[in-house]
Amino acid sequence: MIRLSAITPSGHVQLGNHLGAVRRWAREGTPSDVYFISDMHAMTTPHNPARLRSLTAEQLAVLIAAGVAPESVCVQSDLVRELGALTWVLECTCTYGEAARMTQFKEKSVGRSSVRLSLLTYPVLMAADILLQNAAEVPVGEDQQQHVELARALARRFNRTYGEVFTLPKAVLPPAGARIKDLADPTKKMAKSARDSAGTVFVLDPPDLVRRKIRKAVTSPEGVANLVDVLVACTGKEPEDYADRFAELKDVVADAVIEELRPVRERTTELLGDRAELDRIRATGAERARSRAQHTLDAALRLSGLT
Ligand code: ATP
Ligand code: MG
Repeated sequence: MIRLSAITPSGHVQLGNHLGAVRRWAREGTPSDVYFISDMHAMTTPHNPARLRSLTAEQLAVLIAAGVAPESVCVQSDLVRELGALTWVLECTCTYGEAARMTQFKEKSVGRSSVRLSLLTYPVLMAADILLQNAAEVPVGEDQQQHVELARALARRFNRTYGEVFTLPKAVLPPAGARIKDLADPTKKMAKSARDSAGTVFVLDPPDLVRRKIRKAVTSPEGVANLVDVLVACTGKEPEDYADRFAELKDVVADAVIEELRPVRERTTELLGDRAELDRIRATGAERARSRAQHTLDAALRLSGLT
């Protein structure tokens, strides 16, 4: 059984990415899984090419540092041709209504004077990511569940219309930390591309900054519930275990987050100093993912009447 998931280099990796996704890829993943940096997805909103390249390298290092098996890691654009081809086939399987219904499209396009067409179509590219590698499970945070359901619907429709080729994928959410909220505005999801980063804890933030951000966290009922969720996700304990320490909740949370992130931050810094090793990991991952993609891509093109 193949698991597959991704992180987009649209900013620095934040605590929600770590707890909701990356840490699980490290703990539950096997070398036959695929975990990749989705650099093509980062182009769906205005982007800077040099920053995109450097964030891609940084995120590759963070994944390895967090303990994701190096054999299972790759970069999306190393398969740009295969993905481009399958995306086209899947766009011809998807309706405009299905794409326009996506919550994330609505949230990310609101208030923008100009919206890239790719922001609407990127869930189809994401479906291609998943289906090309025959993934059965997609470990993600809650916000990505709808996109995985779209991938499943497209796979089922293609199989029924043209012939069985795709594995039907399903999203798998974590028991805690599936939707970490912004510390300054707990009505919003913590996100690496948020305009204001005061309420976002980044994985590479130094401990004193992590502590300061957590001390400033909003303490509305939602804010406190979010801190408890972070605590439970970091320590694996139950909220009741902390009942006598709720007065000092923020310090307890800060300690837990700092300890959780320390090894990742330290190892990332080491890896970023060894570019040759990172390049080697990237090239091996690309080769593996590309060779596994070939059969599914050929079959999908043939069944739809191409090549
Ligand atoms: P962006 O703001 O660019 O969308 P993001 O922080 O939402 O960035 P993504 O690259 O879109 O990060 O998502 C990477 C993974 O992290 C996905 O599996 C997603 O579900 C998960 N994730 C993102 N934010 C959170 C969060 N706040 N809590 C739990 N999981 C999250
Ligand atoms: Mg996101």
